[in-house]
Amino acid sequence: MSSFNDQENILARRPTWAEIDLNHLAANFKRVKQRVGPVARVMAVVKANAYGHGAVACARRLVSEGADWFGVALPEEAIELRSAGITQPVLCLGGFWPGQAAACIQHQLTPVVYRLDMFEALNQAALNAGVVADVHVKVDTGMGRLGIRFDGLSEFVAALERFRNVRIDGIMSHLAAADDASCQPLTRDQIQRFEDAVVVFRDHGYRPTHLHLANSAGVYGHREAWGNMVRPGGVLYGLWRDVLPLTTTKPELLPVMSLHTRISLLKWVPPGETIGYGCTFEASRRSLIATLPVGYHDGYMRGLSNRAHVIVRGMYAPVVGRISMDLTLIDVTNVSGVEVDDQVTLLGWDRQNAELKIVAEDLARIVGTLSYEVTCGISERVPRVYISADYTN
Ligand SMILES: *Cc1c(COP(=O)(O)O)cnc(C)c1O
Repeated sequence: MSSFNDQENILARRPTWAEIDLNHLAANFKRVKQRVGPVARVMAVVKANAYGHGAVACARRLVSEGADWFGVALPEEAIELRSAGITQPVLCLGGFWPGQAAACIQHQLTPVVYRLDMFEALNQAALNAGVVADVHVKVDTGMGRLGIRFDGLSEFVAALERFRNVRIDGIMSHLAAADDASCQPLTRDQIQRFEDAVVVFRDHGYRPTHLHLANSAGVYGHREAWGNMVRPGGVLYGLWRDVLPLTTTKPELLPVMSLHTRISLLKWVPPGETIGYGCTFEASRRSLIATLPVGYHDGYMRGLSNRAHVIVRGMYAPVVGRISMDLTLIDVTNVSGVEVDDQVTLLGWDRQNAELKIVAEDLARIVGTLSYEVTCGISERVPRVYISADYTN
């Protein structure tokens, strides 16, 4: 699959690609850094291949922008960053699995831990290597997912003393609904429980350096949740319309991913004929239909059939008929001068007419999901083309 990322041969393959604007990523990161100022460090969350944007390329750029930490889900993802020469601390947000303790130590990863047997495994691996392993302990303050429940913490902390080769470098939790005003009481409880949890550790003599619980919604919506490090993901990629509290003043964040293809066939279809699987679209007039070499395997979701639009020659054109695995049809009857090979924007801004834009949040709303699932879903079959030089347009 790695050959798909070979940018030099892009002209020799299917013209469907995702552009990743690293300048926009850098600008978004700067916004977050300015927002939290000197109060908190910024851990850039680059899990899930940086929400589909390409973890290595994004992390490299963020290093040069001053990212203090990186957050990934799996040790496998952290090792990918290490192999690419990233030396910053990397937190494995999901913890690690049996058999991965030695790898965490070998690659100097910082796992999140939430079970005694994880301490046990890491302590043993650290002892074997003659080192002390750093961990961040996760407290469940109300998400109900990973973490030691806040109300059972004292007992847990009391059991940690024997793990002499593990150092608690951080305490963390995760906000469940920081974007939702109707869940304010829960968010407030979570913040209070987190502060109480930190006291429990202090009472047992621990002095962890890093205290953190704010995701993107926490960074923008809950100043009290910043601790001394924040963990934004979505906002770095310019995803915020379905992520931040509605009360947030419109942030100046720029979308990082756009998705493009080119028309591969044009044909006139007479009125009354249907097109695509399942006869879901019938031409009501003589229609000019363009075939696009992109489909749901690329992450252009089938749920967008007959509902989304794309941008061609500075105009919106509707998706017509069912999106299939590798192909999509659009109606370009109204697009004057349209030709085979014209560039089509499925996600992103039109270069000729910046008024026209399709953001991931729009596509997400159509299919009833979150913008994150849209960018994460752009599959490996779609090569990422990175834009990093300064350009004006
Ligand atoms: C994914 C994740 C984040 C980042 O969340 P965003 O909403 O993308 O900012 C932060 N913390 C944890 C534990 C996560 O899993």
